[in-house]
Amino acid sequence: MAVVGPSRHSRVPVSMPLMQGTGATSSAGHQQAILAAAQPYYHPQHAHQAPAATAQNVQPDRPIGYGAFGVVWAVTDPRDGCRVALKKLPKVFHSLVSSKRVFRELKMLCFFKHENVLSALDILQPPHLDFFQEIYVITELLQSDLHKIIVSPQHLSADHIKVFLYQILRGLKYLHSARILHRDIKPGNLLVNSNCVLKICDFGLARVEEPDQCKKMTQEVVTQYYRAPEILMGARHYSAAVDVWSVGCIFGELLGRRILFQAQSPVQQLELITDLLGTPSLDDMRHACEGARTHMLRQRVKPPSLTALYTLSSQATHEAVHLLCQMLVFDPDKRITVMDALAHPYLDEGRLRYHSCMCKCCYTNSANSLRQFTPDFEPKTPHAFDDLWEKKLTSVQQVKEEMYKFIVEQLNTRRVPLCINPQSAAFKSFASSTVAHPSELPPSPHQWE
Ligand SMILES: [Zn+2]
Repeated sequence: MAVVGPSRHSRVPVSMPLMQGTGATSSAGHQQAILAAAQPYYHPQHAHQAPAATAQNVQPDRPIGYGAFGVVWAVTDPRDGCRVALKKLPKVFHSLVSSKRVFRELKMLCFFKHENVLSALDILQPPHLDFFQEIYVITELLQSDLHKIIVSPQHLSADHIKVFLYQILRGLKYLHSARILHRDIKPGNLLVNSNCVLKICDFGLARVEEPDQCKKMTQEVVTQYYRAPEILMGARHYSAAVDVWSVGCIFGELLGRRILFQAQSPVQQLELITDLLGTPSLDDMRHACEGARTHMLRQRVKPPSLTALYTLSSQATHEAVHLLCQMLVFDPDKRITVMDALAHPYLDEGRLRYHSCMCKCCYTNSANSLRQFTPDFEPKTPHAFDDLWEKKLTSVQQVKEEMYKFIVEQLNTRRVPLCINPQSAAFKSFASSTVAHPSELPPSPHQWE
């Protein structure tokens, strides 16, 4: 590991004015607030807790995003006045597939314990089982995401790019160590706060990796611009390498400040990829379906033009392009792993900066001002995420009962539970907010055969 001793750790933190207008304060905030504390609020057991926010500093609740399968609002926690993100997972019990998917996402959010992966802070108290229809999860609120930053006029230095890429890979190493494939890594799913701390979010499409190569996996994953060639070519089975491809696309996008492969259709997407990488060999296409392979063989043979990556920007140094080329490899088995990418010298400065002043795993000794480093810069999970429970669930009612039990178990017993205030003005618009716009969902794959 190339992080050097404490004497060099006096650098200024990377930060940028990401925080946009925080919105006018609203004296009507209280009446409008979506979140309410479930009774009894002033229980003596909770008397030591901070009082509810005063009307003067309450910001109005507002929608901030739409994930693959949920709506996110910025709201105020009435217990301490803190701003948090409230995610609604709607239409949970629509079908067995959707209810299992939501349960999986919920279990993942409660499982994660990593600085670069968003996790659940709390779950709202569900109503009686008979009225249990929607699930609300509270997470940390971050001001921006990588998509907003890339399209903004904000200058991105080489240090910014390194520290962002380091954190994406650090979070992904944790997810992959839990055997979880995210399957929708894109700039909009990488939340960033004003200190440039980055967290991977939206696990609506995430699943545990499939060890059985004969099992068919869904191809309706990953937003097209970030979709790996094996998925574009109809591979029946794929691995964690699909997430690494997406990271490569984002790395290129950070360098060039524009989407690396921005095509109108999955077939054109593949064309843009081969324009850069050249025509793949037959062996490199061994995971592809027959139809996609035939299509590729009918095309004219293209030479690779990877040197074009140097023209992305002045920040596309030899080291940067060297790492990028190893992420953008057509054959998923030859593509670099997250572990190996983290060992690339390009990331040494990002690691140094992150652990010098941004992380929560290291600390500065107040007596001598020396930085005390964690023994493990990029921790794995102590155990993999288990999905065996999914196989035992065979009906919507069964999922509903199990999920109800799970939520009740998770409720933080040291704090007053929260619930929705249906009388609030904001709830009316929150209740009617729908799931992701169709354009934001991964489009259907090309029908090759
Ligand atoms: Zn650290």
